[in-house]
Amino acid sequence: MKPVVYVTRTIPEVALTLLRQYCEVIYRDEMAPPSREELLKNVLNVDAIYCTLNEKIDREVVDASPRLKVVGTMSVGVDHIEVEYATSRGVYVVYTPGVLTETTADLAFALMLATARRVVEGDRMIREGKWKLAWAPTMMLGYDVHGKTLGIIGLGRIGVAVARRAKGFNMKVYYYDVNRRKDIEDELGVQYLELQNLLKISDFISIHVPLTPETRHLIGEKELRMMKPTAIVVNTSRGPVIDEKALVKALREGWIAGAGLDVFEMEPLPPDSPLVDLPNVVLTPHIGSASYDTRNMMAQYAAEGIIKVLKGEEPENLYNRDVVKIRPLHLVKMV
Ligand code: NAP
Repeated sequence: MKPVVYVTRTIPEVALTLLRQYCEVIYRDEMAPPSREELLKNVLNVDAIYCTLNEKIDREVVDASPRLKVVGTMSVGVDHIEVEYATSRGVYVVYTPGVLTETTADLAFALMLATARRVVEGDRMIREGKWKLAWAPTMMLGYDVHGKTLGIIGLGRIGVAVARRAKGFNMKVYYYDVNRRKDIEDELGVQYLELQNLLKISDFISIHVPLTPETRHLIGEKELRMMKPTAIVVNTSRGPVIDEKALVKALREGWIAGAGLDVFEMEPLPPDSPLVDLPNVVLTPHIGSASYDTRNMMAQYAAEGIIKVLKGEEPENLYNRDVVKIRPLHLVKMV
């Protein structure tokens, strides 16, 4: 008997082909995520769930799936999974760290440049037929990126990749993290600062922490008020890391100069969100990892992780390593 894996929505072919070699695949070939009812119904008799960040894999889902051995998510963030509970039930969680690092760092930099240099506003001006003066000494002025100060919040994989790019722009880079990264400080010449000091000193602030109870609203009104009026905030982590209401106020009232946002407290961003009407904001629809190559790699990596667990082997992309103590791998082995 092959193990059964439920794939919650349309994924790149490379992953599907791989899964089909080892598993019976229940494939929900739909772009949109399943409804909660559909999800709960479909996990009933499966050994594995292949999901994305849009499906909440909480205790109700885990409990609805008595045979469940492994959850593979096509994301590096695992805030949509109740990992502690899954671990207590002996359910392995595999994810996709590393393969999306450079692509997401590219987007963070794109947002930084686009916001500072008013790229989207300029594009809109032309398309709306509002470009009347060919060139004017004070037309559409923005902020330089090169040579400025960048504060990185969360110097993990993506934070480091952003720091590397910043060095190429001759930026002075500071970071705040729960842990000091001496290796990176030495290699890239970045300097550690407490969060408050980083907020006060930075021209650009780029956020790269995971969403956890500690990082929810890490940036709120108090933190925004500490920033320079010329500061630009870029968020490619998770929306709830910033208090969006406070951010809107900060942008409207000029406490800061602008924001480049790929993630939001509610996704998709409601069309009536006040962010939509602000000219000093560049918005992208959660596309941090959305390149052809990277999405293929993510899809494959999640599938490989699931298969490894079902083979009774420990995958390198296992998130909850403690789970081996609850349910050793030889007891999971099915292929
Ligand atoms: P990572 O390597 O784990 O880096 C996160 C860093 O933040 C780590 O150094 C971590 O420290 C630190 N951190 C954790 N909690 C913190 C806190 N309370 N205060 C300060 N620092 C804290 O993760 P990554 O691969 O760089 O990814 C970062 C996040 O980006 C993901 O979790 C995901 O949510 C988001 N992401 C978004 C997109 C997108 O499409 N927009 C794409 C990829 C990733 P420790 O390692 O010591 O915990």
